[in-house]
Amino acid sequence: MHMNFTEADIAFQTEVRDWLKENLTPEIVAEAKVARNAFMSRERLLDWQKRLARKGWLCTNWPKEYGGPGWTPTQKYIFEMEMARVGAPGTSPFGPRMCAPVIMKYGNQAQKDKHLPPMLNSDLIWCQGYSEPGSGSDLASLKTRAVREGDFYIVNGTKIWTTTAHIADWIFCLVRTSSGGKPQDGISFLLIDMTTPGIKVEPIITSDGNRAGTHEVNQVFFTDVKVPVENRVGEENVAWTYAKYLLEFERGGSAYSPRLRSSFERLKRLVDATADGDKTLMRDNAWKEKLARTDIEIASLEMFELEFYSRLASGQNPGPWSSMIKLRGTEMMQQVQEYAVEAAAHYAMPFPVQRVPGANDEPIGPEGSDVLAPRYFNGRKMTIYGGSSEVQRGIMAKAILGL
Ligand SMILES: Cc1cc2nc3c(=O)[nH]c(=O)nc-3n(C[C@H](O)[C@H](O)[C@H](O)COP(=O)(O)OP(=O)(O)OC[C@H]3O[C@@H](n4cnc5c(N)ncnc54)[C@H](O)[C@@H]3O)c2cc1C
Repeated sequence: MHMNFTEADIAFQTEVRDWLKENLTPEIVAEAKVARNAFMSRERLLDWQKRLARKGWLCTNWPKEYGGPGWTPTQKYIFEMEMARVGAPGTSPFGPRMCAPVIMKYGNQAQKDKHLPPMLNSDLIWCQGYSEPGSGSDLASLKTRAVREGDFYIVNGTKIWTTTAHIADWIFCLVRTSSGGKPQDGISFLLIDMTTPGIKVEPIITSDGNRAGTHEVNQVFFTDVKVPVENRVGEENVAWTYAKYLLEFERGGSAYSPRLRSSFERLKRLVDATADGDKTLMRDNAWKEKLARTDIEIASLEMFELEFYSRLASGQNPGPWSSMIKLRGTEMMQQVQEYAVEAAAHYAMPFPVQRVPGANDEPIGPEGSDVLAPRYFNGRKMTIYGGSSEVQRGIMAKAILGL
Protein backbone atom coordinates (compact mmCIF):
# COMPACT_ATOMS: atom_id res chain seq x y z
CA MET A 1 0.00 0.00 0.00
CA HIS A 2 1.31 3.46 -0.82
CA MET A 3 0.26 6.15 1.59
CA ASN A 4 0.82 9.82 1.10
CA PHE A 5 2.43 10.98 4.31
CA THR A 6 2.33 14.65 5.26
CA GLU A 7 5.55 16.47 6.14
CA ALA A 8 4.68 16.07 9.81
CA ASP A 9 4.23 12.32 9.30
CA ILE A 10 7.61 12.06 7.59
CA ALA A 11 9.24 14.00 10.44
CA PHE A 12 7.60 11.60 12.87
CA GLN A 13 8.86 8.62 10.87
CA THR A 14 12.40 10.01 11.07
CA GLU A 15 12.03 10.52 14.82
CA VAL A 16 10.95 6.86 15.25
CA ARG A 17 13.86 5.64 13.08
CA ASP A 18 16.38 7.74 15.03
CA TRP A 19 14.99 6.52 18.32
CA LEU A 20 15.23 2.91 17.18
CA LYS A 21 18.88 3.36 16.18
CA GLU A 22 19.62 4.49 19.74
CA ASN A 23 17.41 2.11 21.69
CA LEU A 24 17.05 -1.16 19.85
CA THR A 25 20.29 -2.58 21.22
CA PRO A 26 22.10 -5.60 19.67
CA GLU A 27 21.18 -7.61 22.79
CA ILE A 28 17.47 -6.92 22.33
CA VAL A 29 17.66 -7.68 18.59
CA ALA A 30 19.53 -10.95 19.25
CA GLU A 31 16.98 -12.15 21.78
CA ALA A 32 13.99 -11.10 19.63
CA LYS A 33 15.49 -12.85 16.59
CA VAL A 34 15.57 -16.29 18.16
CA ALA A 35 12.41 -15.90 20.26
CA ARG A 36 9.70 -18.30 19.22
CA ASN A 37 6.95 -16.06 20.45
CA ALA A 38 6.36 -12.44 21.34
CA PHE A 39 7.87 -12.77 24.77
CA MET A 40 11.44 -12.34 25.88
CA SER A 41 12.84 -12.90 29.36
CA ARG A 42 11.36 -10.67 32.06
CA GLU A 43 14.58 -8.70 32.41
CA ARG A 44 14.90 -8.02 28.67
CA LEU A 45 11.17 -7.32 28.27
CA LEU A 46 11.20 -4.74 31.08
CA ASP A 47 14.36 -3.14 29.68
CA TRP A 48 12.78 -2.78 26.23
CA GLN A 49 9.45 -1.55 27.61
CA LYS A 50 11.13 0.97 29.91
CA ARG A 51 12.97 2.47 26.94
CA LEU A 52 9.62 2.92 25.18
CA ALA A 53 8.01 4.20 28.38
CA ARG A 54 10.68 6.88 28.91
CA LYS A 55 9.87 8.21 25.45
CA GLY A 56 6.10 8.00 26.16
CA TRP A 57 5.67 5.31 23.50
CA LEU A 58 4.65 2.28 25.55
CA CYS A 59 0.93 2.86 26.07
CA THR A 60 0.30 4.10 22.57
CA ASN A 61 -3.46 3.44 22.66
CA TRP A 62 -4.09 5.45 25.80
CA PRO A 63 -5.92 8.77 25.68
CA LYS A 64 -3.75 11.82 26.28
CA GLU A 65 -5.39 12.56 29.63
CA TYR A 66 -3.91 9.29 30.98
CA GLY A 67 -0.45 9.87 29.49
CA GLY A 68 -0.93 8.42 25.99
CA PRO A 69 0.90 10.09 23.08
CA GLY A 70 -2.31 11.30 21.36
CA TRP A 71 -1.19 10.04 17.97
CA THR A 72 -3.22 10.19 14.80
CA PRO A 73 -4.05 6.76 13.26
CA THR A 74 -1.36 7.44 10.63
CA GLN A 75 1.28 8.09 13.30
CA LYS A 76 0.27 4.90 15.08
CA TYR A 77 0.56 3.04 11.81
CA ILE A 78 3.97 4.56 11.05
CA PHE A 79 5.19 3.62 14.53
CA GLU A 80 4.05 -0.01 14.17
CA MET A 81 5.48 -0.18 10.65
CA GLU A 82 8.90 1.09 11.74
CA MET A 83 8.98 -1.29 14.71
CA ALA A 84 8.12 -4.24 12.45
CA ARG A 85 10.60 -3.19 9.75
CA VAL A 86 13.58 -3.56 12.08
CA GLY A 87 12.23 -6.62 13.92
CA ALA A 88 11.65 -4.80 17.22
CA PRO A 89 10.06 -7.07 19.83
CA GLY A 90 6.46 -6.65 20.96
CA THR A 91 5.44 -5.51 24.41
CA SER A 92 3.28 -7.26 26.99
CA PRO A 93 -0.32 -6.40 26.11
CA PHE A 94 -2.06 -7.58 29.28
CA GLY A 95 -1.68 -4.45 31.42
CA PRO A 96 -1.50 -1.53 28.97
CA ARG A 97 -3.76 -2.79 26.17
CA MET A 98 -6.24 -5.05 27.99
CA CYS A 99 -6.64 -4.27 31.70
CA ALA A 100 -6.03 -0.51 31.42
CA PRO A 101 -9.10 0.28 29.24
CA VAL A 102 -11.29 -1.55 31.80
CA ILE A 103 -9.77 0.35 34.74
CA MET A 104 -10.18 3.64 32.84
CA LYS A 105 -13.84 2.96 32.09
CA TYR A 106 -15.07 1.02 35.14
CA GLY A 107 -12.40 1.48 37.86
CA ASN A 108 -12.55 4.02 40.68
CA GLN A 109 -10.06 6.86 41.15
CA ALA A 110 -7.97 4.95 43.71
CA GLN A 111 -7.57 2.04 41.24
CA LYS A 112 -6.62 4.43 38.44
CA ASP A 113 -4.04 6.13 40.68
CA LYS A 114 -2.57 2.84 41.88
CA HIS A 115 -2.47 0.77 38.68
CA LEU A 116 -2.20 3.06 35.64
CA PRO A 117 1.13 4.85 36.39
CA PRO A 118 3.11 1.57 36.86
CA MET A 119 1.70 0.37 33.53
CA LEU A 120 2.69 3.62 31.83
CA ASN A 121 6.22 3.34 33.26
CA SER A 122 6.51 -0.43 32.70
CA ASP A 123 7.27 -1.12 36.36
CA LEU A 124 5.17 -4.29 36.43
CA ILE A 125 4.00 -7.14 34.22
CA TRP A 126 0.37 -8.28 34.13
CA CYS A 127 -1.29 -11.48 32.99
CA GLN A 128 -4.84 -12.46 32.14
CA GLY A 129 -6.88 -14.93 34.21
CA TYR A 130 -9.93 -15.60 32.03
CA SER A 131 -9.80 -19.21 30.72
CA GLU A 132 -10.27 -22.26 32.90
CA PRO A 133 -10.22 -25.98 32.14
CA GLY A 134 -13.60 -26.45 30.43
CA SER A 135 -14.27 -22.70 30.21
CA GLY A 136 -12.54 -21.30 27.13
CA SER A 137 -14.97 -20.39 24.36
CA ASP A 138 -17.73 -20.91 26.90
CA LEU A 139 -16.08 -18.40 29.22
CA ALA A 140 -19.24 -17.59 31.16
CA SER A 141 -19.21 -21.12 32.64
CA LEU A 142 -16.11 -20.25 34.71
CA LYS A 143 -15.97 -21.77 38.20
CA THR A 144 -13.17 -20.02 40.12
CA ARG A 145 -15.02 -18.84 43.22
CA ALA A 146 -14.54 -15.69 45.27
CA VAL A 147 -16.41 -15.77 48.57
CA ARG A 148 -16.76 -12.53 50.50
CA GLU A 149 -15.42 -12.56 54.06
CA GLY A 150 -15.44 -9.06 55.56
CA ASP A 151 -13.05 -6.84 53.60
CA PHE A 152 -11.65 -9.73 51.57
CA TYR A 153 -12.64 -12.24 48.94
CA ILE A 154 -11.34 -15.78 49.44
CA VAL A 155 -10.49 -17.11 45.98
CA ASN A 156 -10.33 -20.82 45.10
CA GLY A 157 -10.01 -22.38 41.66
CA THR A 158 -7.70 -22.50 38.66
CA LYS A 159 -6.94 -20.53 35.49
CA ILE A 160 -5.32 -22.11 32.46
CA TRP A 161 -3.29 -21.03 29.40
CA THR A 162 -2.21 -18.00 31.40
CA THR A 163 0.44 -16.37 29.21
CA THR A 164 3.54 -15.13 31.12
CA ALA A 165 1.98 -15.84 34.56
CA HIS A 166 5.43 -17.06 35.63
CA ILE A 167 6.94 -13.58 35.15
CA ALA A 168 3.87 -11.52 36.07
CA ASP A 169 3.41 -9.30 39.13
CA TRP A 170 -0.39 -8.99 38.84
CA ILE A 171 -3.22 -10.96 37.28
CA PHE A 172 -6.68 -9.68 36.38
CA CYS A 173 -9.22 -12.42 36.98
CA LEU A 174 -12.82 -13.20 36.25
CA VAL A 175 -14.28 -14.95 39.30
CA ARG A 176 -17.68 -16.28 40.27
CA THR A 177 -19.19 -14.36 43.17
CA SER A 178 -22.70 -15.74 42.80
CA SER A 179 -24.34 -18.88 41.36
CA GLY A 180 -27.84 -19.48 40.09
CA GLY A 181 -29.42 -17.57 37.23
CA LYS A 182 -27.69 -17.20 33.87
CA PRO A 183 -23.97 -18.14 33.82
CA GLN A 184 -23.17 -14.57 32.68
CA ASP A 185 -24.61 -13.27 35.97
CA GLY A 186 -22.56 -13.56 39.16
CA ILE A 187 -19.13 -12.80 37.66
CA SER A 188 -16.76 -10.20 39.16
CA PHE A 189 -13.45 -8.71 37.99
CA LEU A 190 -10.59 -8.89 40.51
CA LEU A 191 -7.04 -7.55 40.39
CA ILE A 192 -4.78 -9.97 42.24
CA ASP A 193 -1.17 -9.49 43.36
CA MET A 194 0.71 -12.61 42.21
CA THR A 195 2.77 -12.66 45.43
CA THR A 196 -0.36 -13.29 47.54
CA PRO A 197 -0.04 -16.55 49.54
CA GLY A 198 -1.97 -19.48 48.01
CA ILE A 199 -1.07 -18.82 44.34
CA LYS A 200 0.87 -21.53 42.49
CA VAL A 201 2.03 -21.27 38.86
CA GLU A 202 2.85 -24.39 36.84
CA PRO A 203 4.31 -24.29 33.31
CA ILE A 204 2.57 -25.80 30.28
CA ILE A 205 5.07 -26.84 27.60
CA THR A 206 3.77 -26.28 24.08
CA SER A 207 4.42 -27.89 20.67
CA ASP A 208 6.90 -25.23 19.52
CA GLY A 209 9.58 -26.88 21.61
CA ASN A 210 9.53 -24.43 24.52
CA ARG A 211 11.08 -25.82 27.63
CA ALA A 212 10.36 -24.87 31.24
CA GLY A 213 12.15 -21.59 31.85
CA THR A 214 11.56 -20.27 28.34
CA HIS A 215 7.93 -21.26 28.15
CA GLU A 216 4.92 -19.07 27.48
CA VAL A 217 1.73 -20.47 29.05
CA ASN A 218 0.89 -21.75 32.50
CA GLN A 219 -1.79 -23.05 34.77
CA VAL A 220 -2.41 -20.91 37.86
CA PHE A 221 -3.90 -22.43 41.02
CA PHE A 222 -5.64 -20.40 43.74
CA THR A 223 -6.04 -21.93 47.20
CA ASP A 224 -7.71 -19.72 49.81
CA VAL A 225 -6.17 -16.60 48.27
CA LYS A 226 -7.17 -13.46 50.24
CA VAL A 227 -7.92 -10.55 47.92
CA PRO A 228 -8.95 -7.15 49.33
CA VAL A 229 -12.45 -6.10 48.25
CA GLU A 230 -10.94 -2.79 47.09
CA ASN A 231 -9.27 -4.81 44.28
CA ARG A 232 -12.65 -5.48 42.64
CA VAL A 233 -13.14 -3.34 39.55
CA GLY A 234 -16.71 -2.05 39.18
CA GLU A 235 -19.74 -3.67 40.76
CA GLU A 236 -20.01 -7.19 42.11
CA ASN A 237 -21.66 -9.83 39.87
CA VAL A 238 -21.91 -7.71 36.71
CA ALA A 239 -18.39 -8.07 35.31
CA TRP A 240 -19.52 -9.95 32.18
CA THR A 241 -19.98 -6.52 30.57
CA TYR A 242 -16.43 -5.50 31.57
CA ALA A 243 -15.06 -8.87 30.43
CA LYS A 244 -16.53 -8.42 26.94
CA TYR A 245 -15.31 -4.82 26.75
CA LEU A 246 -11.76 -6.02 27.52
CA LEU A 247 -11.99 -8.71 24.83
CA GLU A 248 -12.74 -6.04 22.22
CA PHE A 249 -9.36 -4.47 23.07
CA GLU A 250 -7.63 -7.85 23.17
CA ARG A 251 -8.87 -8.60 19.65
CA GLY A 252 -8.43 -5.17 18.11
CA GLY A 253 -5.72 -3.76 20.40
CA SER A 254 -2.92 -3.73 17.88
CA ALA A 255 -2.62 -3.61 14.12
CA TYR A 256 -1.59 -6.86 12.43
CA SER A 257 -0.71 -5.50 9.02
CA PRO A 258 2.66 -3.81 9.81
CA ARG A 259 4.11 -7.05 11.23
CA LEU A 260 2.44 -9.04 8.48
CA ARG A 261 4.00 -6.77 5.89
CA SER A 262 7.48 -7.23 7.33
CA SER A 263 7.00 -11.04 7.64
CA PHE A 264 5.88 -11.00 4.02
CA GLU A 265 9.02 -9.11 2.95
CA ARG A 266 11.11 -11.74 4.77
CA LEU A 267 9.10 -14.47 3.03
CA LYS A 268 9.83 -12.93 -0.37
CA ARG A 269 13.57 -12.83 0.42
CA LEU A 270 13.41 -16.48 1.50
CA VAL A 271 11.54 -17.53 -1.66
CA ASP A 272 14.10 -15.67 -3.74
CA ALA A 273 17.00 -17.32 -1.92
CA THR A 274 15.56 -20.83 -2.29
CA ALA A 275 16.09 -22.83 -5.44
CA ASP A 276 14.16 -25.76 -6.88
CA GLY A 277 16.69 -27.34 -9.19
CA ASP A 278 18.47 -24.47 -10.91
CA LYS A 279 15.73 -21.85 -10.67
CA THR A 280 14.79 -19.75 -7.66
CA LEU A 281 11.30 -20.35 -6.33
CA MET A 282 10.55 -16.71 -7.19
CA ARG A 283 10.39 -17.77 -10.85
CA ASP A 284 7.90 -20.52 -10.17
CA ASN A 285 4.37 -19.60 -11.31
CA ALA A 286 2.63 -21.22 -8.34
CA TRP A 287 4.82 -19.23 -5.93
CA LYS A 288 4.27 -16.01 -7.90
CA GLU A 289 0.52 -16.53 -7.60
CA LYS A 290 0.70 -17.24 -3.83
CA LEU A 291 2.84 -14.16 -3.20
CA ALA A 292 0.66 -11.88 -5.32
CA ARG A 293 -2.51 -13.04 -3.57
CA THR A 294 -0.94 -12.58 -0.13
CA ASP A 295 0.30 -9.10 -1.08
CA ILE A 296 -3.21 -8.04 -2.10
CA GLU A 297 -4.78 -9.50 1.03
CA ILE A 298 -2.29 -7.67 3.27
CA ALA A 299 -3.03 -4.42 1.42
CA SER A 300 -6.76 -4.82 2.03
CA LEU A 301 -6.17 -5.56 5.72
CA GLU A 302 -3.98 -2.43 5.92
CA MET A 303 -6.82 -0.28 4.58
CA PHE A 304 -9.33 -1.87 6.94
CA GLU A 305 -7.06 -1.42 9.95
CA LEU A 306 -6.45 2.24 9.13
CA GLU A 307 -10.19 2.84 8.99
CA PHE A 308 -10.65 0.91 12.25
CA TYR A 309 -8.00 2.95 14.09
CA SER A 310 -9.53 6.18 12.78
CA ARG A 311 -12.77 5.14 14.45
CA LEU A 312 -10.95 4.49 17.74
CA ALA A 313 -9.18 7.84 17.49
CA SER A 314 -12.54 9.55 17.12
CA GLY A 315 -13.61 8.00 20.44
CA GLN A 316 -15.61 4.99 19.23
CA ASN A 317 -15.28 1.59 20.94
CA PRO A 318 -13.72 -1.26 18.95
CA GLY A 319 -17.01 -3.21 18.99
CA PRO A 320 -17.47 -6.38 16.89
CA TRP A 321 -15.19 -4.97 14.15
CA SER A 322 -12.30 -6.09 16.34
CA SER A 323 -13.38 -9.68 15.57
CA MET A 324 -12.86 -9.02 11.85
CA ILE A 325 -9.37 -7.62 12.48
CA LYS A 326 -8.44 -10.55 14.71
CA LEU A 327 -9.80 -13.14 12.30
CA ARG A 328 -8.11 -11.79 9.17
CA GLY A 329 -4.89 -10.75 10.93
CA THR A 330 -4.28 -14.09 12.62
CA GLU A 331 -5.31 -16.28 9.69
CA MET A 332 -3.00 -14.35 7.38
CA MET A 333 -0.10 -14.49 9.85
CA GLN A 334 -0.50 -18.26 9.89
CA GLN A 335 -0.63 -18.34 6.09
CA VAL A 336 2.66 -16.44 5.81
CA GLN A 337 4.28 -18.71 8.43
CA GLU A 338 3.09 -21.76 6.52
CA TYR A 339 4.48 -20.48 3.21
CA ALA A 340 7.81 -19.78 4.89
CA VAL A 341 8.09 -23.35 6.19
CA GLU A 342 7.05 -24.65 2.74
CA ALA A 343 9.69 -22.53 0.99
CA ALA A 344 12.51 -23.42 3.40
CA ALA A 345 11.47 -27.11 3.29
CA HIS A 346 14.06 -29.27 5.13
CA TYR A 347 15.98 -26.20 6.32
CA ALA A 348 12.99 -25.38 8.52
CA MET A 349 13.35 -28.67 10.36
CA PRO A 350 16.28 -28.33 12.78
CA PHE A 351 14.21 -26.60 15.43
CA PRO A 352 15.03 -28.94 18.32
CA VAL A 353 18.62 -27.69 18.21
CA GLN A 354 17.78 -24.13 17.38
CA ARG A 355 20.06 -21.42 18.59
CA VAL A 356 19.71 -19.62 21.85
CA PRO A 357 21.36 -16.22 22.35
CA GLY A 358 25.10 -16.73 22.73
CA ALA A 359 25.16 -20.28 21.32
CA ASN A 360 28.04 -20.95 18.93
CA ASP A 361 26.52 -23.50 16.53
CA GLU A 362 26.11 -22.18 12.99
CA PRO A 363 22.59 -22.21 11.54
CA ILE A 364 22.13 -23.94 8.20
CA GLY A 365 20.02 -22.93 5.18
CA PRO A 366 18.79 -19.47 4.18
CA GLU A 367 19.00 -16.81 6.91
CA GLY A 368 16.37 -17.18 9.60
CA SER A 369 15.21 -20.69 8.59
CA ASP A 370 16.10 -22.17 11.98
CA VAL A 371 13.21 -20.36 13.72
CA LEU A 372 10.59 -21.02 11.04
CA ALA A 373 9.30 -24.33 12.38
CA PRO A 374 8.98 -23.26 16.04
CA ARG A 375 7.33 -20.00 14.96
CA TYR A 376 4.95 -21.97 12.75
CA PHE A 377 4.00 -24.25 15.65
CA ASN A 378 3.79 -21.33 18.09
CA GLY A 379 1.63 -19.43 15.59
CA ARG A 380 -1.12 -22.07 15.78
CA LYS A 381 -2.18 -20.31 18.99
CA MET A 382 -3.21 -17.14 17.19
CA THR A 383 -6.52 -18.49 15.94
CA ILE A 384 -7.31 -19.88 19.42
CA TYR A 385 -6.44 -17.23 22.02
CA GLY A 386 -8.65 -14.20 22.50
CA GLY A 387 -11.51 -16.36 21.18
CA SER A 388 -11.07 -18.92 18.39
CA SER A 389 -11.77 -18.12 14.74
CA GLU A 390 -15.07 -20.01 14.96
CA VAL A 391 -16.11 -17.84 17.90
CA GLN A 392 -15.10 -14.64 16.01
CA ARG A 393 -17.21 -15.77 13.03
CA GLY A 394 -20.13 -16.37 15.41
CA ILE A 395 -19.79 -12.82 16.82
CA MET A 396 -19.62 -11.30 13.34
CA ALA A 397 -22.64 -13.29 12.15
CA LYS A 398 -24.67 -12.08 15.11
CA ALA A 399 -23.43 -8.55 15.79
CA ILE A 400 -22.49 -7.35 12.28
CA LEU A 401 -24.69 -9.36 9.92
CA GLY A 402 -27.61 -9.63 12.35
CA LEU A 403 -28.11 -13.36 11.63
C1 LIG B 1 -1.02 -20.01 23.48
C2 LIG B 1 -2.27 -19.60 24.18
C3 LIG B 1 -2.25 -18.54 25.06
C4 LIG B 1 -3.38 -18.21 25.79
N1 LIG B 1 -3.30 -17.20 26.72
C5 LIG B 1 -4.35 -16.98 27.53
C6 LIG B 1 -4.23 -16.06 28.61
O1 LIG B 1 -3.19 -15.42 28.81
N2 LIG B 1 -5.28 -15.90 29.44
C7 LIG B 1 -6.45 -16.57 29.25
O2 LIG B 1 -7.37 -16.36 30.04
N3 LIG B 1 -6.60 -17.45 28.24
C8 LIG B 1 -5.58 -17.68 27.38
N4 LIG B 1 -5.70 -18.59 26.37
C9 LIG B 1 -6.91 -19.40 26.29
C10 LIG B 1 -7.78 -19.14 25.09
O3 LIG B 1 -8.53 -17.95 25.23
C11 LIG B 1 -8.70 -20.36 24.92
O4 LIG B 1 -7.86 -21.45 24.56
C12 LIG B 1 -9.75 -20.15 23.87
O5 LIG B 1 -10.72 -19.24 24.31
C13 LIG B 1 -10.44 -21.46 23.44
O6 LIG B 1 -10.89 -22.15 24.55
P1 LIG B 1 -10.56 -23.71 24.79
O7 LIG B 1 -9.09 -23.87 24.63
O8 LIG B 1 -11.19 -24.11 26.07
O9 LIG B 1 -11.25 -24.47 23.57
P2 LIG B 1 -12.79 -24.86 23.45
O10 LIG B 1 -13.62 -23.70 23.87
O11 LIG B 1 -13.03 -26.16 24.13
O12 LIG B 1 -12.97 -25.03 21.88
C14 LIG B 1 -12.62 -26.25 21.21
C15 LIG B 1 -13.03 -26.12 19.75
O13 LIG B 1 -14.46 -25.93 19.66
C16 LIG B 1 -14.74 -24.75 18.90
N5 LIG B 1 -15.90 -24.05 19.47
C17 LIG B 1 -16.13 -23.82 20.78
N6 LIG B 1 -17.27 -23.12 20.95
C18 LIG B 1 -17.75 -22.86 19.72
C19 LIG B 1 -18.88 -22.15 19.20
N7 LIG B 1 -19.74 -21.54 20.02
N8 LIG B 1 -19.06 -22.09 17.86
C20 LIG B 1 -18.19 -22.71 17.01
N9 LIG B 1 -17.11 -23.40 17.44
C21 LIG B 1 -16.88 -23.46 18.76
C22 LIG B 1 -13.50 -23.88 19.04
O14 LIG B 1 -13.37 -22.99 17.94
C23 LIG B 1 -12.40 -24.92 19.05
O15 LIG B 1 -12.05 -25.28 17.74
C24 LIG B 1 -4.59 -18.93 25.59
C25 LIG B 1 -4.62 -19.97 24.66
C26 LIG B 1 -3.50 -20.31 23.97
C27 LIG B 1 -3.57 -21.47 23.00
